[in-house]
Amino acid sequence: MSAGVKVSEPGMEGSVKKEEVYEAAKKMMGREFQTVLAALLKILPDYEDMLVENLVRPFILKDEDYKLLMDIMLGEFNKGLGKETNPTAKVKMYPTYVRDVPDGSENGNFLALDLGGTNFRVLLINLNGQEVTMESKIYLIPQHIMTGTGEQLFDHIAECIHKFMSNHDLLKEKIPLGFTFSFPCKQIGLNHAILTQWTKGFKCEGVEGEDVVRLLHEAIKRRGDIDVECLAVINDTVGALMSCAHSDRDCAIGLILGTGTNACYIEKLENVELWDGDYNEPKQVMINTEWGALGDDGCLDFVKTEYDRQVDKHSINPGRQIYEKMISGMYMGEIVRLAPEKLRKHGLLFGGKGSEELSTRGRFYTKYVSEIESDVDDHFKNTKQVFEELALEKYSDEDCRIAQYVCSLVSTRAAFLASVGVAALLNKMDRQDVTVAADGSLYRFHPHFHDLMVEKIQQLVKPGIKFKLMLSHDGSGKGAAIVTAVANRLRESGKESIGENGLEN
Ligand code: ADP
Ligand code: MG
Repeated sequence: MSAGVKVSEPGMEGSVKKEEVYEAAKKMMGREFQTVLAALLKILPDYEDMLVENLVRPFILKDEDYKLLMDIMLGEFNKGLGKETNPTAKVKMYPTYVRDVPDGSENGNFLALDLGGTNFRVLLINLNGQEVTMESKIYLIPQHIMTGTGEQLFDHIAECIHKFMSNHDLLKEKIPLGFTFSFPCKQIGLNHAILTQWTKGFKCEGVEGEDVVRLLHEAIKRRGDIDVECLAVINDTVGALMSCAHSDRDCAIGLILGTGTNACYIEKLENVELWDGDYNEPKQVMINTEWGALGDDGCLDFVKTEYDRQVDKHSINPGRQIYEKMISGMYMGEIVRLAPEKLRKHGLLFGGKGSEELSTRGRFYTKYVSEIESDVDDHFKNTKQVFEELALEKYSDEDCRIAQYVCSLVSTRAAFLASVGVAALLNKMDRQDVTVAADGSLYRFHPHFHDLMVEKIQQLVKPGIKFKLMLSHDGSGKGAAIVTAVANRLRESGKESIGENGLEN
């Protein structure tokens, strides 16, 4: 800014006194000042949009807003758990049939499938006490299959299992399989999960309302060349929790911040009104909250920005997964893109000149947010690299600073919103020491997500509750293998339907 007083410096809002601005402007304009001031006063309200801060201010929420959001989340958890209120609840709080954390004695070879976001993986896991070894391969799910028919999807999955087994020389073996299927499901047993709705860009016909394990088994049968039985289906949140609990007995919350966002936690059976299993020890069950759907009834409208509304409108599932869309990796880049695009159109960025890339939906990747925010000095090395990738020709250091500011506003809001959910769970469980197992590329790679979350959760939890937020490794593989191991042991000992060691089939 050339006026001598930086009135619109990002983040400096409120630090410049009105009198100083007045005096500086008077000094600059001399005799013309009164005339210009009179003219400006007539039109100023129409030009509010010409300030960077005004355009991005809606991303900044107050402490009271976050406190209120936590109370809303708590209310939604209780609504989901209640028998009468569950049918109309948006946060569904599905019981998972996983009853306890592992005891460390699980062992053997297991296959796992990880479906539910950016990559589909097949894994081979060996458990031997605390020792876990793993091999995995990523297989692409082409766009036409993501939005094709269920039969195509499961045939493709069965083909990938076959390829993997063939490459690992396992075709002649019978290996128990655990399926990490990370979409909202109503479970009716450890290996029965009925998909309620697709999310995160998937939309395969004929799967909603069906048991995905049955569809998988049918596809395997259609091929007839592999001997694989799925013993357990879990959500990635449960995988994260189980994997971390393998070495930390305090672990009681599993959190995902990747393509989507979701969390699970350990709840007392007496609070789960819809529980239809046994009441043996341990009298608890993991609840898959499916909290991504918070806001689908409009309860988050008071914090939504125009950018959030646009992202939702152009998504494959408008009106759904509102909380998820304000937080997770699938949407964050796009929220950020829309803000600089608007600033650019107002001539406030890149001298008003954009690029086709910057104008293309989905072209600003969420990893750019991490990269831009990783710049720590005024060289803006990463930021400039991102600008180059977006084919932006003209940019100044001020543009870099503004881009960094916008990224930090959006990612901070996301981290604080996710903290609201975690704090609500911690307050609800009311245990003294809880480890939260977090997984997902957004949490893993963003330079400040962890610290921001710790700060906000600390503000929101009841005094006396201590928590640790820990990166969970390979939950979708290791977690699935652990649950499958216990299911397999129960089956082999003929106790299939007994809830021993927390698992029921
Ligand atoms: P999934 O949730 O599908 O299991 P991930 O945990 O890898 O997969 O999360 C994928 C999401 O993370 C994508 O939406 C992607 O945009 C985002 N992502 C990937 N790399 C980064 C990064 N470096 N920083 C922030 N987000 C990232
Ligand atoms: Mg994952």
